[in-house]
Formats: sequence, C-alpha cells, structure tokens
Amino acid sequence: MEAGKDQNGEGFKVKEPVVILGAGLTGLSTAYHLKRDYQIFEKEDEAGGLCRSHIVNGFSFDYTGHLLFLKDPGIKKLVFDLLGNNIKCHSRKSWVYLKDQLIPFPFQANFGLLPASIAKECLGDFIFARGYNKNKDANNFSSWLNSRFGKGLTKYFLRPYNEKMWRVPLSRITLDWVEKFIPQPELDDVVEGVLGKKKDKYGYNAEFWYPEKGGIFSLPRALKNRVKNLHLNEEAVEISLKKKTVRFRSKKEISYSNIVSTMPLPELIKIIKDIPAEIKTKSKGLSCCSVFNINLGLNIQLDPNIHWIYFPEKKYPFYRYGVISNFSGNAAPAGKSSIYIEISYSSGKKINKKHVLEDTIKRLIELKVISDKNDINTIKTLDIKYAYVIYNSARKNYLRDILEYLEKQGIYSRGRYGSFDYSSMNDALIAGTDIAEKLNAE
Ligand SMILES: Cc1cc2nc3c(=O)[nH]c(=O)nc-3n(C[C@H](O)[C@H](O)[C@H](O)COP(=O)(O)OP(=O)(O)OC[C@H]3O[C@@H](n4cnc5c(N)ncnc54)[C@H](O)[C@@H]3O)c2cc1C
Repeated sequence: MEAGKDQNGEGFKVKEPVVILGAGLTGLSTAYHLKRDYQIFEKEDEAGGLCRSHIVNGFSFDYTGHLLFLKDPGIKKLVFDLLGNNIKCHSRKSWVYLKDQLIPFPFQANFGLLPASIAKECLGDFIFARGYNKNKDANNFSSWLNSRFGKGLTKYFLRPYNEKMWRVPLSRITLDWVEKFIPQPELDDVVEGVLGKKKDKYGYNAEFWYPEKGGIFSLPRALKNRVKNLHLNEEAVEISLKKKTVRFRSKKEISYSNIVSTMPLPELIKIIKDIPAEIKTKSKGLSCCSVFNINLGLNIQLDPNIHWIYFPEKKYPFYRYGVISNFSGNAAPAGKSSIYIEISYSSGKKINKKHVLEDTIKRLIELKVISDKNDINTIKTLDIKYAYVIYNSARKNYLRDILEYLEKQGIYSRGRYGSFDYSSMNDALIAGTDIAEKLNAE
C-alpha cells in the first residue's frame, strides 16, 4: 500500500492495483468487469491470446477452429453486445472419416453407415457394454471407453482418435472431464442410427456461433476496446511473494495488491522466486499436449457441407481439419477457401514440422480435398505449446493444493491454462467475470 493524503489533508492508504497477467479472453474479461484499479500486462504485441486471428493474402486463420458455444445467458448477452450484428449461428456439419467414407458425427450414433460386419460388431459390443458392463472397472479413460461404448466403437474410433489427440496412454487419463465433452447416446439412439436415422444433435457443439467478419479475434478486439491500462510486449518474468511485486522482461517492476494470472500455471510457478519447494514439485506433473496448426488458403471452393472432419486413422498425421470459410464467407476471397489442420504432439517433444507439412499436403491430395499443390495459395503455420490440458493423476491430486496456496498469497490463477482445465471461450469470459466480482467485493 502507498501512503497518500485525502482532500482534507488526512493521511490514507492507496491500495496497490490488481495486476492482470495475460490479455487473452480471461484477462480481458477480468479487466472489463473489475471496478478496482488494475493494470493488465500481455507478453505479445497484441491482445487476444489464443483468440487472435491472422489475415494473410485475404485468408483469415484462427488458432485452429475457434467456435463460440454460448451456453450461459449472461455471456451470450455480453458477446452479442460486443459483436453486435457481426455474429451468426451455425448448425454443426461435422464428420468422421473412416474406411474411406464420411460418417456423420457423432460416430457413436451413426456408425450404422459403416460396412455391415463392422456396424454389427460395434452394435453388439455396445449392447453388451450397456447391459452387462456399465461402469465396470472404469477408473481411467481407457477402461471408461470400453465400459460406456463397448470394444467395437472404442477400437474403430474412440481409442485411435483420442490417442492421436492426447498423445499419452489413455489409461493415464482420469475421468473428471469426460461427461461434459464426450456424447453418450442411449441404446435407442444407437439402434435408430444403425437403422439409418441420422443423428446429429448430440454433444456440446451441435450449434455454434462465429463472427461474420474479422475471425474470432473480433471478440477480444471488441473487449480490448473497452478496457484501459493495457500494456503490450510486457512479459512477466519474476514475482516476489514477499515484496508483492512483479518484474517484467523490460525491467519494469510493479507492486500489486492481488494478481490475476492467466498465463499457464506451470509457467507461473516457475517465475515465483520464493515459491515453496513442495508446490514447485507438485506442479511438475501438470502436463498439456501441443498442437501444430497448419492453415491453408486454397484457390478452390470446398464442399459447403463440411465444417470439420475427424480423422482417427494413423496414416493421416492430423486428427482433424476444418473449413473456416464455411463458418464465415469473409474468411477467404470469393471462390476460395480457408482451412485449418490440427496435428497434436507431446509437449516438450520436437516434431519435424517440414515433414508433417509435406505429409499433410500429400494426404489432402490423396483425400481429393485438393488436386495438387497448385491449389494452395497461402500457408500459415502456428504452434500452440499449451493446447489441451491432460487430466492426469498429478492434476487430480495436486491442482487444488497449488491453486489454494496461490490464493492464500493473493494470486488468482484463472482461465484455461491458469486453472488448468479443458475449458472454452465461454468459460474464459465467465472466469474473468467471477474473479472480478470476488475482487470487487473485497
Ligand atoms: C486448439 C484449440 C482449439 C480451441 N477451440 C475452441 C473452440 O472451438 N471454442 C472455444 O470456446 N474454445 C476453444 N479453445 C479454447 C480457447 O482458446 C480458450 O478457452 C481461451 O482462449 C482461453 O483464454 P485465456 O485468456 O484463459 O488463455 P489464453 O488465450 O492462452 O491467454 C493467456 C494470455 O497470457 C499471455 N501470457 C502468457 N505468459 C505471460 C507472461 N509471462 N506475461 C504476460 N503475459 C503472458 C499469453 O500471451 C496470452 O495472451 C480452443 C483451444 C485450443 C488450444
């Protein structure tokens, strides 16, 4: 606290500002809702975090697909207020590519379209799982898949797809996220699917919203315009709990009353110089997979019936590709398309990006998405080090201890990588609202 004098010349204490680290959606939402003095610092030269967009040669690219699922009425109102007319609702058109054919997503309700012998195997195993095996031995993601969906669905789609995305053995993944993210159809739905009734309304992403112009960055940009005290190119490199200060790479130093940190939690722990050894050790098991994101601007117009396609088979290096120009006509020049391709890899491990890019293009030609390399107008690659938080035993056992310790020090670690969870833009806006309300009440 700083000492000061009020208008009557009486002494009083001025509270240090709340220091917000990171100007992604969580940091911006915190700033927007805070009624206390704050300063917000972002290490990059632009706000928005993972919700930035890149416009190259008239093609708009996000950090892979960034679709809005506006489940919370308060957040829906905020987003509509921020984006005005610049937003449109879409009904999901997504598919699974398996055995050389497209199966509507979710696979677990539409696998009847596969060759009869595979469909029969999947249905039989599903009935067995639901009838005899429900929740048996399900103490990790691997056994949960078998117990909820049966061996067939797990073998053909769920296991290979999830292994490709998470890059860790599925038996090391806990179950605290699955209910929210993995659609679990009832037996009736599955039987109807096998009999040919297309099911497409399952899951959290059956409908989504997307800006008409400017990519997903339109959202953080609108929010950024409503906050003050934003400092770009300022990377926090050291926090002292004792002195209650943050030091930046620029050598600037600031005192804080509280910190709202939205930087990845393991990185936050690393820069706190007086962090207890026990907390440091506990944070070491927190882990994420990374995503190498290849974005292509194409000279051709792609099928409008595709928003995105999942690829479980090993021969394809990517686990998904999506067509942004089918969410927004402005994402590519007329008659052209903008696509994103997602390749996951273990965090901390290197991948040969040149090789992956070449293999990806080869596979796109094989899949007849493009006829040859001449269809590619623009390439923009992005690397996402912290992409999907892995729900492992370290997270289950220690995350709460770490967050509670930090809160006792006045540091609130929030957002997708701050609170280390599998959360959405909607959740990031809520996280900012909630922490601002808490701090406003102090
Ligand atoms: C591949 C992928 C696809 C996704 N798709 C969707 C989707 O379709 N729909 C959806 O709702 N959500 C999606 N998400 C999730 C969404 O991106 C996040 O929920 C949201 O962007 C999180 O915002 P945040 O502010 O918490 O984090 P971030 O956006 O990561 O912001 C954190 C900020 O902190 C900054 N920072 C880091 N270290 C420092 C430091 N030392 N000093 C200062 N600043 C620092 C970073 O530069 C960054 O700007 C996706 C995420 C990924 C990875």
